[in-house]
Amino acid sequence: MGDLKLERLGKAYGTFHAVKDLSIDVADGEFLVLVGPSGCGKSTALRMIAGLEDITSGTLRIGGEVMNEVRSKDRDIAMVFQNYALYPHMTVYDNIAFSLQIQKYDKAETDRRVKDAARVLQLEDHLKRRPGQLSGGQRQRVAMGRAIVRRPAVFLMDEPLSNLDAKLRVQMRAEIAALQDRLGVTTIYVTHDQIEAMTMGDRVAVMKDGELQQIGSPDEIYNRPANTFVATFMGSPAMALLFADFALEGAGAMLRIGNQELRIDGQILEKRPDLQGYDGRRLIIGIRPEHMGDPAMSTAAQTIEGDVFLRESLGSDIMVHFQIDGEAAPVVSPDTLESLPDDNSQMRATCIARFDPRSDVTVPGRRTIAVDVSALHFFDAATGEAIW
Ligand code: ATP
Repeated sequence: MGDLKLERLGKAYGTFHAVKDLSIDVADGEFLVLVGPSGCGKSTALRMIAGLEDITSGTLRIGGEVMNEVRSKDRDIAMVFQNYALYPHMTVYDNIAFSLQIQKYDKAETDRRVKDAARVLQLEDHLKRRPGQLSGGQRQRVAMGRAIVRRPAVFLMDEPLSNLDAKLRVQMRAEIAALQDRLGVTTIYVTHDQIEAMTMGDRVAVMKDGELQQIGSPDEIYNRPANTFVATFMGSPAMALLFADFALEGAGAMLRIGNQELRIDGQILEKRPDLQGYDGRRLIIGIRPEHMGDPAMSTAAQTIEGDVFLRESLGSDIMVHFQIDGEAAPVVSPDTLESLPDDNSQMRATCIARFDPRSDVTVPGRRTIAVDVSALHFFDAATGEAIW
């Protein structure tokens, strides 16, 4: 069985804690993506699972057995790295067969496994070539082939697509996800790319500064981010975060952002009972680009006024960058939207709205922007934790 249990796993380099109390259960056959910005500890976590790095604290179990002291080669895992480390002088066949030959598998069994893997990876016509005669994507598939033939309990992948060009990444990301699904081998996949995380994983674990921030399905992570970090890290362009003063009014509530107001009706408030406790307090609201748009094309009844300073036409949408009179809330994400230099930038928050491609947008210009208030996110201003 390839189920994996990380129990308060920790890694310290001297006094620096690269991974802190990481607890994750990965079910047999599951595809888990570990995602986070550079330096968050995701590779270190993977290397501890692989046995390439000693575990400082906590327990690692694979298939129920404690693995902390088990040597890497005895853990029944196979790793795929970003530099595929293929042997340049060997054919594709021999590269894939190598680990089986080392383990002295008989020739017929080796041949069968290599050919099975080559069929699955569509490498059958290239088995006699050397890595130098392959495209980047084909080389990546050979690296996958080497992992597959070993039929391990767990695949560990560390940014396996990062050396490929953008188009190939998109193609390979679908191929790897489909392959994992077909093989049903438990997989932990490390990336800093939130799109890979969203599209590939059964579940996504978001890390920051060595700590797990949230774990859940891609939908949960995107639609119910646990804190401002996850909220802004996942999604591109990033969610805008603004300070807002919150006050209950009748059955609903009012949000004041700078000199503007958004009304929250009773129905929305009912779905977020914890908001009641924030009456008269300042909190952080989050708005995703797709929840703001052209009032002429939107059913959202509430609007704000913004000063548009940039219009990016993507063909399918127009990204409208604007500033509003209101205070940008602190964001702890590398994807943070930076306010344009401004006389009073502290009090001007930058937002991005996704407009319909047929919309009229003048740059620069004052513009009314529709806001879908039912899709707002709310966060505690002191902790950044989501309010539900
Ligand atoms: P990246 O996406 O850049 O690879 P990461 O999230 O995978 O980043 P890790 O490689 O796990 O990050 O590193 C986590 C932290 O531990 C970093 O701050 C790194 O500098 C530190 N670190 C890693 N290896 C060592 C080491 N051998 N000695 C000291 N610090 C280390």
